[in-house]
Amino acid sequence: MSTINDRPNVEEKIGRALADGDLDYRSSAINAVIALGCVSIEEKVADAVFRLKYANDAHSYRDAVKAVSGMAKSLDARHNWRMKDHAAMAAEVVKYWLCDLCPSCTGIGAQAITGTPVLGTYCLACRGSGKRDYPWQEMGRAARYYTETLWALEEAERRIRGKLIDKLAHEIRDSGVLR
Ligand SMILES: [Zn+2]
Repeated sequence: MSTINDRPNVEEKIGRALADGDLDYRSSAINAVIALGCVSIEEKVADAVFRLKYANDAHSYRDAVKAVSGMAKSLDARHNWRMKDHAAMAAEVVKYWLCDLCPSCTGIGAQAITGTPVLGTYCLACRGSGKRDYPWQEMGRAARYYTETLWALEEAERRIRGKLIDKLAHEIRDSGVLR
């Protein structure tokens, strides 16, 4: 997610525009995009988490946890995990997903060499992934369920982001929000 240069990416621009009210989430084309995707639970998940992560809409936090909890439940039903507390797992997964950068390299995945603009060898803490370790990795069998729920969340995020960017490209360019 993080890039080496400081230019905000499209998601950040959309998020900022949403947060500033330049694009009204409820009335704009975004709503139509979301509505199109709302047939599947994953899209609802993505809707809530996208607003939470990119628009910094704190009110979406409970929606996001609830949505991810629903996603975990359906994964459980499909794979017969027999988890007891989907809400607690969802809260952990959302927390990680909101801030998943490796603290050693701040997400760059490489070790910067002081005094040079060139990035050095890859970060040993995250082995170049740029992401911190899963906080649930010591949890034995359940860790796998947390990770699979996270993957489903990340996949939903990718899909909705693709849709948003495609459909909003014109509207945003025309409105001048990205200048
Ligand atoms: Zn790292």
